[in-house]
Amino acid sequence: MPDYQTIKKELKGIAIEDNPALVRQKSRDFYWYSPILKAQLDSVTADLIVTPKSEEEVIRTLKVAFAHGVPVTPRGGGTGNYGQAMPLSGGIVLNLAAMDKIKEIHPGRVICEPGIIIAQLDKQTKAHSGQELRFHPSTAQMATVGGFIAGGSGGVGSITWGGLRDIGNILRLRVVTMEAEPRVLDLTGWDLQKVSHAYGTNGIITEIEMPLAPAYDWVDVLVGYDDFMASVRFSDALAKCNGILLKEIAPIAAPIPHEYFTRHKPYIRKGQSVVVLMIAPHSMDAFLAFTSAHKGEVIFRSDMVESMKGIPHAYELVWNHTTLRALKVDPGFTYLQVQYPGPDHVAKVAKMVEIFGDEVPGHLEFIKFDGQIQCSGLPLVRYTTEERLEEIIRIHQDHGCPIFNPHRYTLEEGGMKRTDKVQLAFKHETDPKGLLNPGKMIAWENPDFDFNAGKNYLFPGLASVM
Ligand code: FAD
Repeated sequence: MPDYQTIKKELKGIAIEDNPALVRQKSRDFYWYSPILKAQLDSVTADLIVTPKSEEEVIRTLKVAFAHGVPVTPRGGGTGNYGQAMPLSGGIVLNLAAMDKIKEIHPGRVICEPGIIIAQLDKQTKAHSGQELRFHPSTAQMATVGGFIAGGSGGVGSITWGGLRDIGNILRLRVVTMEAEPRVLDLTGWDLQKVSHAYGTNGIITEIEMPLAPAYDWVDVLVGYDDFMASVRFSDALAKCNGILLKEIAPIAAPIPHEYFTRHKPYIRKGQSVVVLMIAPHSMDAFLAFTSAHKGEVIFRSDMVESMKGIPHAYELVWNHTTLRALKVDPGFTYLQVQYPGPDHVAKVAKMVEIFGDEVPGHLEFIKFDGQIQCSGLPLVRYTTEERLEEIIRIHQDHGCPIFNPHRYTLEEGGMKRTDKVQLAFKHETDPKGLLNPGKMIAWENPDFDFNAGKNYLFPGLASVM
């Protein structure tokens, strides 16, 4: 057992919390979305929460932790869904929330600390020069930029810009290594992908440079259809329509909208499937003409309601907020993350709807994937048993719809990130004792791990490009 009294003395001057209840609170994320992860991770807790205010304090903390052999698990807003920020081996949770400053804003880019809340960043860059991040997770009000890069994948805006996996969507990262004398690395180009979606297993991000896009007063719109597949076909056509500027297209099947979007319920008929959209104000006329031609019923517009008080942003109905809203009303749900590779993505969705019906109510996110319009899915699942969940996963895969399994806490089993020799060599270089977020990277724990064991990954390996 590490000597935490000595560690605390050595970290004097840095904010530390060791009250067990508060430590436990900061040792969780949204892992409970998954009944499987809930059972596996419920008892996980750290020993100390350390909250550095500067890169210098991060370096001091890592140096002390390295000397004592104590694991360090970084944490942003704690909104990850797969136990990413949960300290499986205890030790220190490094809370980056106090490193929340914007350093510079330029045309097309921002430089900031990792702990800034995404909505705060967007607010400041918009006020400064009418710019915002290209895309953000639906948790923008709670999640940090650093946590998004290290734990997220894409979100609102990915219909135009793709995701974090796409080179160019992160410009530069400063990363502190976990060594006797921690080094500060500036990463650009392909090197960025060693750290993006790596769950903080190979360095602490202390500075971030991100590209920006023009900001608009996006109009939230709901379009209703009586049939889910009609809403999917409309979404696909709209996503491919070059002229209309929008930030979000998410068709969501009945009964989800009427039953679980409680604040929007007065606008939604029972049994109605809904497309949740964010449209640029100057594209509204074109959008309405397009929607009318596709027999869509505009049932809600944020620019037409008397007040938006008490009504959440459209982006808080989509991505994993759809699941959250259903879970709040009915804890019997869980969810999956599905890819429907194009060009026949609509037909693949139709097949899954036909097979599963109301056991797996549909929720799609239209995105740009390797330059093509596709949809990924976050369908709800009416959970019965682990065996049935595995069977539902298998049936999707058998029909050419890969699953990024949200019921696994390791990088590899989640299916998002392919680890390979390059990734592993980088970890050896930055974290030789394996103290950063231990237990999350199978390739580190198991030297015989077969990098080709998985199927397809959202964040591909680096061996082929470096
Ligand atoms: P945390 O959960 O605190 O951390 C995430 C990972 O990053 C952890 O492994 C942590 O160790 C690591 N980390 C944090 N900070 C650093 C750092 N400075 N250096 C190194 N590693 C670090 N995800 C999406 O991609 N898109 C979505 O639209 C989306 N919607 C969501 C909706 C809901 C309701 C919920 C609960 C989750 C959603 N997520 C989504 C998942 C999650 O919110 C995002 O990944 C989010 O961006 C994580 O940010 P965070 O600050 O909360 O990170």
